[in-house]
Amino acid sequence: MGGSFLIPIFALSAVMATAVTVAGWRRRRTAPAVGTLALVSAAIATWSVTEALIVLNTRPDAGLVLAIVKYLGVCGSMAGFLCMSTAMVDRTWRLSRRTLLLLLAEPALVVAAIATNPWHERFFLSMDWAVSPEARIPEFGPLFWAHTVYSYLLFTTGALRLVRAWLHGPGAHRPLYGLTLLSVVPSTMGNTIGLLGLVRTADLTPVGFCATAVIIHWVLVRRSLPELVPVARGHVFDMIGDAVVTVDATGRILDLNSAAGRMLRRLTPGLPARLTGLPLRGVLSGLPPAANEEIDLALTDGAGRKVDLNVRTTALHDRRGGHAGWAIVSRDVTALNRQRRELERANTRLREQQQELEGANARLHRQQQELEQANGRLHEQLRTIELLRADLSEQASRDVLTGLHNRRHLMDALQRKAAEAGRDGGPLALALLDIDHFKQVNDRYGHRAGDEVLVRFAELLTGAARPQDVTARHGGEEFVIVFPATTGEQALSLVEALRERVAAEPVPAAGHRLRITFSAGVASLSCGQSPDDLLQAADEALYAAKRRGRNRVEPAVPGSAEPGAAGAAA
Ligand code: GH3
Ligand code: MG
Ligand code: MG
Repeated sequence: MGGSFLIPIFALSAVMATAVTVAGWRRRRTAPAVGTLALVSAAIATWSVTEALIVLNTRPDAGLVLAIVKYLGVCGSMAGFLCMSTAMVDRTWRLSRRTLLLLLAEPALVVAAIATNPWHERFFLSMDWAVSPEARIPEFGPLFWAHTVYSYLLFTTGALRLVRAWLHGPGAHRPLYGLTLLSVVPSTMGNTIGLLGLVRTADLTPVGFCATAVIIHWVLVRRSLPELVPVARGHVFDMIGDAVVTVDATGRILDLNSAAGRMLRRLTPGLPARLTGLPLRGVLSGLPPAANEEIDLALTDGAGRKVDLNVRTTALHDRRGGHAGWAIVSRDVTALNRQRRELERANTRLREQQQELEGANARLHRQQQELEQANGRLHEQLRTIELLRADLSEQASRDVLTGLHNRRHLMDALQRKAAEAGRDGGPLALALLDIDHFKQVNDRYGHRAGDEVLVRFAELLTGAARPQDVTARHGGEEFVIVFPATTGEQALSLVEALRERVAAEPVPAAGHRLRITFSAGVASLSCGQSPDDLLQAADEALYAAKRRGRNRVEPAVPGSAEPGAAGAAA
């Protein structure tokens, strides 16, 4: 009968280990630890199957072959456990070719030792176990014990790694390590039972190991896979330039990307190779207490250079909503800040230049206004000068006492009117008036009274003249009226009317009312006559009026003062 009742147990163990192998193998790419679990489970499945076959076997030669296969499973389980523990503790771990070769050495030796056992009987002292259903636990030789010591060395090394990670690792990973450590209890118990010979019908170690594999599968794949995939996350982290660090609630580094590693090493030179598990604030002094916020930090790197960091901190929560730690994303904004400062400086310079330009513009505008004002003043002055000049020239053309035009103006005007008449073929007449016995006025009433009479006479003259007529003081008490476009007869009657009025109206002077008269000679311009000739003719007519008794108007005798005769008459 032996241990055949254990066959279903081994079969179950083989099935479960195979299931774990398949599940682990499918997910081997998510994390190296899951891949190694697949290897361990495959070894356990092998071990379980062979253990069942060993229970059923009755032939020594077949027993040897089964032993070889079994111990391949045993060696694979041990080496796999070590690899799995290492991969769980260090998620960046990969199975190197060198490690693989080293780990394959002992199984090779074990296979060789078992295969040659019939000759040296140092692995199994006898092959009785292969044919005795009651005693399936062999009597072991020194080579077996060497293998067992080696196996326990591998197993203990792996377990110790888990213990250390459990004690010192980030709090969030502790359950993973703790549960894995607990999972080795069944396999250790199974093995101890066999080694102590408590159960002799079969080796129960693979069953214990199967339990271990199932538990680890649950721990790894069902519960802690997210914590084991930071290798994949690491690829994402490394693709982004921002430094990303996750810390647990106590501030210990759980994970960091390579950008964060580089930044931390730049800011704090001489950091150890492994940063996970270290307190972040110990690694980087100058960090404010963690809080959900975004801040800018000004730090100095190991070389004394200023480093501006933009740091965003976000609280992390576990599945039950409890505070699990912080995710800290930091970006080096030194260059950005420098560019921003340069831009601001350039902006300020631009503004200053703009202000200067505006100032210059305003000055220019003011100067333009001043210039315009000066221009206005100049124009004003020019106008004043022009008025003064006109006034001066007017004054120069006027007689000071009477305000009438003077002789110079008279001659100019006469010249013009004569030219116009010559051009248009129209008539032009001229009268020369002389106050009668004026000397007597001076003599009798004084020179001043004479002046008053002259002024009053000028007023009468002006009042009588038509707008187009030109009145002037010819000199002393003699006056001239030029009648443009007027015939001699017309002029004669105009002067005659004036004479009558003057003779009829006494002139007030020096408190007296003086009766004054004048004599006049009227001449009209005949063809070829000069202004001087005309004046001469009028003068001759005046002389005639004086001679004929005064207070009368005489027309010029036709033919008198012929052209060129003026000089002769004088
Ligand atoms: P007649 O009738 O022949 O013209 O006699 P008369 O006295 O008017 O002529 P006369 O030539 O002898 O005298 C002219 C006088 O006029 C002489 C002069 O003193 C006077 N006289 C000339 N100019 C002025 C002046 O501006 N003011 C004054 N008060 N007298 C003047
Ligand atoms: Mg006179
Ligand atoms: Mg006179």
